[in-house]
Amino acid sequence: MGVANERSIAWSITQALWQEGAELAFTHLPTPSSRRRIVRLVEPHQPPVVLPCDVQRDEDIAKVFAAVKETYGRLDLLVHSIAFAPPQELKKPYLEMSRQGWHLAMDISAYSLVAVCRAAAPLMPPGSAVVTISYLGGERVIPGYNVMGVCKAALEHSVRYLAWDLGDRQIRINAISAGPVRTLSSAGVAGFDQMLDHHVRKSCLHRSVKPDELARTALYLLSDLSQGVTGETIHVDCGFSVVGL
Ligand code: NAP
Repeated sequence: MGVANERSIAWSITQALWQEGAELAFTHLPTPSSRRRIVRLVEPHQPPVVLPCDVQRDEDIAKVFAAVKETYGRLDLLVHSIAFAPPQELKKPYLEMSRQGWHLAMDISAYSLVAVCRAAAPLMPPGSAVVTISYLGGERVIPGYNVMGVCKAALEHSVRYLAWDLGDRQIRINAISAGPVRTLSSAGVAGFDQMLDHHVRKSCLHRSVKPDELARTALYLLSDLSQGVTGETIHVDCGFSVVGL
């Protein structure tokens, strides 16, 4: 969930999963342009399930997982790579954030993980796994990231609570805290270019993270290579988060 175009983090994860032989279903926002974009991308693989899903709508979520059940019978892995905040709100100081904008961002970027896991869990056998994508702005103040940082804090802590709730069924859930990558979503973050420059200068590896590196960590978290790992947030950020100065 969350492939918008070939720059999407979810698209890199898709490629890595396909390479390992996974059969994948896809969702897109219920707009003709979102559908066109994803259909064109996934066409060569002809996935049987490509469905609209606005994660703000429980009925969309229910339809998606009903279709997955009917087509595949079960779900071994789930990728949640979705976030949104009204762009005009991200341009203002966090202090000026509207109530309505805050709720919208939280609903799409954090609550959706809970809603999607609830719908998916009955299809997920023991040993299956969920991955979501976070950012350091959920742990520290990254000027300009504003409400998205608050959403990521909620997302990462939801991962821990969901790990507890899903643990009885031996379903694991983890987050990847990704370093900045140029995508459609990141274009809406004020000062993203400065963020990227700063990252290259200050990260241990002195470069930005490659989408493929995020994808390979997702593979690890979605496979039995990470069997004992749940409730974690793993930084895949070229070591940016460990540097203090
Ligand atoms: P992206 O390609 O724009 O992906 C975001 C996806 O969220 C899009 O597919 C978008 O669909 C979808 N979406 C938005 N509102 C939705 C809704 N109501 N229902 C269902 N889907 C919805 O950008 P991305 O950078 O790969 O973002 C993926 C995740 O990585 C996000 O959680 C983001 O916060 C996180 N992340 C990104 C970076 C970065 O630097 N890029 C760093 C750390 C974490 P449409 O395009 O059709 O609107």
